[in-house]
Amino acid sequence: MHFKLAELQTEIELLRSLIYRAAEAMIAGADMTQLATMAKLKAGKLGRELPSACLQYWGGMGFMNETPVSRAFRDHRIDSIAGGAEEVMLTILCKGMGTLPGMGQ
Ligand SMILES: Cc1cc2nc3c(=O)[nH]c(=O)nc-3n(C[C@H](O)[C@H](O)[C@H](O)COP(=O)(O)OP(=O)(O)OC[C@H]3O[C@@H](n4cnc5c(N)ncnc54)[C@H](O)[C@@H]3O)c2cc1C
Repeated sequence: MHFKLAELQTEIELLRSLIYRAAEAMIAGADMTQLATMAKLKAGKLGRELPSACLQYWGGMGFMNETPVSRAFRDHRIDSIAGGAEEVMLTILCKGMGTLPGMGQ
């Protein structure tokens, strides 16, 4: 359990660093579309993985409405949908990388 929590903390810090890089690029007036899109994609994925792992530690109680982890599990599911679904983020990234099928033909 403590190994998994250490890995999740590492993921959070990686995401935080990415967000800071995107913010720095925006302040500098650079195009930060790719970095911001990667951050949104990763935040959605972490928003699923993290509460799911924590809910597992709580067992059956984690599933009950009165535990905050249950709320986090449900609420963070929207992060991969609202404000642009995960697939839309991937489309933007592929466009930026020039790898979207049909581009450049
Ligand atoms: C609680 C809540 C609050 C919201 N608040 C706001 C708000 O304040 N302002 C606002 O403008 N909107 C808001 N929305 C709407 C939100 O932005 C949309 O739900 C979101 O853009 C996804 O659109 P959709 O629900 O129509 O799903 P759809 O566009 O129908 O997508 C359904 C699924 O299809 C897939 N998909 C979609 N497009 C593609 C694609 N191009 N390629 C491949 N797969 C794809 C994805 O898996 C996606 O999850 C809110 C939604 C919720 C649930």
